[in-house]
Amino acid sequence: SDLSSLICDRIRDVPDYPQPGVMFKDITPLLADPAVFTAVVDELAGAYDVDKIVGIEARGFILAAPVAYRAGAGFVPIRKKGKLPSETLEESYDLEYGSATIEVHRDAFTEGDRVLIVDDVLATGGTAEATVELVRRAGAEVVGVAVLMELAFLKGRERLAGVDLRSLVIV
Ligand code: IMP
Repeated sequence: SDLSSLICDRIRDVPDYPQPGVMFKDITPLLADPAVFTAVVDELAGAYDVDKIVGIEARGFILAAPVAYRAGAGFVPIRKKGKLPSETLEESYDLEYGSATIEVHRDAFTEGDRVLIVDDVLATGGTAEATVELVRRAGAEVVGVAVLMELAFLKGRERLAGVDLRSLVIV
């Protein structure tokens, strides 16, 4: 679609970041383009009927917070271990470059909250899979996962079986 090509044009490939052999998808040109940033936020905010938008630290926050605002939904941060101040649930997982533990506040959701998870890039799917698990353990219903860009060759989609995954661009 038109939006997909606008997004593609504003995501920059950075070779060998954060380590040799990795082609990093840099979304900062997209964020700096007001027309494309606005179009992305409006597209995601209009497509779901949800109570809360979950953003994954750190680039996910940049997208998820304006989507929440636009959708009239609450915003819930998923953070790397040790950053959230109150009682948390945690989940550990493998990622493209190493491993990680993420957390959510135990009381972040009201039982049965309908939730959309937003992130910038779906790579191996480990982060999204762990986030889905955390949100469910915290008592909410995952309505979908939405990302700007899906790196299909890493097969992250296969780790999200049964979850509605929407990628604005698939490469
Ligand atoms: P995954 O867990 O392997 O799917 O990696 C996805 C997570 O790592 C997301 O939170 C992304 O923000 C980040 N990530 C992985 N690869 C890239 C990339 O090429 N560009 C931007 N973020 C990436």
